[in-house]
Amino acid sequence: MFSSAPGRGGTVVAERLCCSKGHRWEPVLPADKWPPDFRSSCPVCGEAPLGPSDVTATTGRVLTVLAVGCLVAGLALLLVPPALPGAIVLLIIAGLIPLAFIGLRVVRQRTKKMGQIADAMGFAFMPNLTPSSVRAVAPFRLFKLGHSQKAYNAMQGRVGDRDLMLFEYSYTTGSGKSQHTTQLTAVVLFDGAAGAPDFQLAPKTFIDKVVGLFSHNSVEIEDAGEFSRRCKLIGPDAAALRETFRPELVQHLGKDGRWFIEVAGGQMLAYRQIRLTPEKCPGLVTDALEVRDLLRGADRPSV
Ligand SMILES: [Zn+2]
Repeated sequence: MFSSAPGRGGTVVAERLCCSKGHRWEPVLPADKWPPDFRSSCPVCGEAPLGPSDVTATTGRVLTVLAVGCLVAGLALLLVPPALPGAIVLLIIAGLIPLAFIGLRVVRQRTKKMGQIADAMGFAFMPNLTPSSVRAVAPFRLFKLGHSQKAYNAMQGRVGDRDLMLFEYSYTTGSGKSQHTTQLTAVVLFDGAAGAPDFQLAPKTFIDKVVGLFSHNSVEIEDAGEFSRRCKLIGPDAAALRETFRPELVQHLGKDGRWFIEVAGGQMLAYRQIRLTPEKCPGLVTDALEVRDLLRGADRPSV
């Protein structure tokens, strides 16, 4: 609705947020604030940006008038036999518009629920983020995949001494009939992997297992058993990674086998390739913190 995909052909289309009154603006992250504060409110009226399924008051009114207009015109044309096909088309349109509103309502309920979970955790809730602002502070590979990327239902806060943000993210790959949209719930731990080398960890796919397509750049950990069978580890500094991936971490990740974890510049991103129900979001935060602690364990001097 407001987050446009990066433009093709090298130009980047500015991503904007929108309030219910229809004001649009480009969020600016305060440069001197760390961790970044992604909250942004309308510079004209001070309202929070709309959620992923909200429509502006004007759009709502226009659609309502359109539905009523189609209904009245359709009913009137029913009285004129030669215009019957036109009447049917108008009545179908009049029926589809309320259905679309019902669909949006379901998504809005979810946004509301996510807001409640954020409240319960004492986190700030942001119904919409611009992917470009997230990408600017957290340059993970995930944010480069596909097109039509969207980030929404974000909650940001602190657990102990850890600043983190949980958010829902979607991107689309392919086009036309082969188009596929991936939705997932992810956690970014700002400074969560300070001191750890950059890497990308992902579950091994069928192709990885059979062909070993990526084996030329993946890092093998010795005696890793389940981990080697289920996880693919990629990173520029193999020696540093072998040091970081100590047995406890390797065992933990191998047992689960579904984690996507990226470390870039000391920040950590963790997700599984699914979108969680709102109730399960706090659990993802706990799980990500557990991985982060095991990762940090590598920094501790061994006794
Ligand atoms: Zn406004």
